[in-house]
Amino acid sequence: MRYPEIPSFREAVRWALADKATRRQTRYVLEQWDDARQEGMARWGDDLRIAIKTIRSQTINQWKHLTQTFQTAANQHGVITHFAPTAKDAASLIQLITERSTNKEVVAPWAPILDEIHAEEAVQRGGGHITYVDVGGYVLQQGRERPAHPVHLLAHLTTRDIGLLLAERWDQEPRFEVSFLARQITARTRHALMKADIGLVGGTFAVAETGHIVLLDPEGARVMAATLPRKVIVVLGLEAIVPTWRDVSLLSRAFWLGATGEDTVPLAVALPGPEEGEDAPEEFHVILVDNGRQRMGDSAYREALYCLHCGACATACPLFREVGGQVYGGPHMGPVGAVWAAFLRPDEFKDLPFASTLCGACAAACPVGIDIPGLLARLRKDWKEKGRMWYWGRGGI
Ligand code: SF4
Repeated sequence: MRYPEIPSFREAVRWALADKATRRQTRYVLEQWDDARQEGMARWGDDLRIAIKTIRSQTINQWKHLTQTFQTAANQHGVITHFAPTAKDAASLIQLITERSTNKEVVAPWAPILDEIHAEEAVQRGGGHITYVDVGGYVLQQGRERPAHPVHLLAHLTTRDIGLLLAERWDQEPRFEVSFLARQITARTRHALMKADIGLVGGTFAVAETGHIVLLDPEGARVMAATLPRKVIVVLGLEAIVPTWRDVSLLSRAFWLGATGEDTVPLAVALPGPEEGEDAPEEFHVILVDNGRQRMGDSAYREALYCLHCGACATACPLFREVGGQVYGGPHMGPVGAVWAAFLRPDEFKDLPFASTLCGACAAACPVGIDIPGLLARLRKDWKEKGRMWYWGRGGI
């Protein structure tokens, strides 16, 4: 199903609930991932969770220091670092870099942080054009669709849906074999990667002690977008900063367990910045985005910043499985996404704290052990006190 411009969360939910086929598919896919996650996390017990929560809490206590340490270390290997207080500042930097480039073809794997800062629009304002080069991002772009999940972007589509959608875009007879579709997508995205001048990538972690960027990349699209073009821009939210390499190893494992239930990340690459050699990127920019994160860190919602964006809470949420991530209308989706969106942009996402039964499935699934229902309940209480509950006073979803 293609979503029109969704006027409100409540209408989007109605729209999603009426589409039984998409509901069935989303539920089926997310239930499979949730089973895998439960098995994977059962192998680790609570020790990993406790360790991760400690790392995240300590990191936020020293954010300012770690941000400066990262920037100094990254500058030493030729990285141009930027600090963007707002999404608009980050978008302006991307616009400027695009404007300065003669070849304005940009490649990007889809990432929530790029969505958050409206990177695609920034590239367009700079006169450029983005091609998404990961499979999920490419299909979403061709179908002008929103992702169904923060990690499993295409959870709402069957292979047949994808075959039909791409056949229409490519003006070909529909074919539904996975191998054919994968080959065709790969050929097109590789072509875009080879002719692009700018690679725009959402980074996974920024390692303060050495100034490296880490990309967790099962497909390889992030790594290619961050190494093949002449100019590379890596964008990270402040929560992506981690103190040491030891922390990276634990956080990566927790992320991947939460996302897929697997113990080993298929591809994790550390990027030092522009390297020596003829083919190395000429410019390597890293943009660290605040956009309300420091304010969140100083608030009662600080625990939401421990999030690794693995999507496990969304996968486990019985309501999310019914409606999918498209209804959230933004980059922050699922239970913890509701906290982020409502805290950062309360007027735009005023309904989201109420999109939960507070059953606790999200907190039980989270590899960091974030008390998501507690944060949602607190938002409701705060909003009631601030008189923002008018809309839901007559009952929720
Ligand atoms: S809150 Fe926990 S489960 Fe949800 S995305 Fe963040 S780390 Fe993953």
